[in-house]
Amino acid sequence: MPDFIRLSSPNFNDRDPVAPLQYIVLHYTGMKTGDAARQRLCDPTAKVSAHYMIEEDGRIFQLVDEDKRAWHAGISFWRGVTDMNSASIGIELVNPGHQFGYRPFTPQQIRSLKPLLRQIIERHRLSAKTCLLAHADIAPMRKEDPGELFPWRDLAQQGFGLWPSPQSVDYGHAEDEDVQVLLRSVGYDCPTGTGYDRATRAALLAFQRRYEPNNLTGTPEKETVARLRALSRDAASG
Ligand SMILES: [Zn+2]
Repeated sequence: MPDFIRLSSPNFNDRDPVAPLQYIVLHYTGMKTGDAARQRLCDPTAKVSAHYMIEEDGRIFQLVDEDKRAWHAGISFWRGVTDMNSASIGIELVNPGHQFGYRPFTPQQIRSLKPLLRQIIERHRLSAKTCLLAHADIAPMRKEDPGELFPWRDLAQQGFGLWPSPQSVDYGHAEDEDVQVLLRSVGYDCPTGTGYDRATRAALLAFQRRYEPNNLTGTPEKETVARLRALSRDAASG
């Protein structure tokens, strides 16, 4: 059971019951230091927050109560839900991010994160397989976090999230629209029938950051499409 350091962020309001809590959204802070990030997440003029922030040394700060709506998602979408702040709990991991020197998350951070995830999933009866989202998943045109250095595969192997295992049938040809339909079926805000446009590329890149982190091309190559097909099938079967 992790210990929390309580800090009170004023940046929250009531959850909207129209979008029930079913997700956990992971972020990186994207600032030079954890101190700077913590100050910003508690600054009333910044109007941003998260429920938790995990320092590189593993300390967990709780900034907003879980029953309140923290302000971490911004304009976002997942499986038809647009009020992702109401539908989720937000966890920030301290990391300078792509702008200030992206680096691996520390073992201490991940060691603190796992029991926290387990607690949240149990407390709110979330689906361990499908509740975990990246900020980049729900806002692919604007966000990259927590990104390709986050240990998505390791967490999936421990039951947090899915990991695609493509079969030979998954390697067949796909038209642009097939890729769009697959991205949408997984949950991404992807248009269909528009050709391979900027929104499709952004969604595919978000998918690659998570499920194919050594191939960040944003283009639907055979392996990417195969993993997308496998994930879509697993997500549909729960
Ligand atoms: Zn974020």
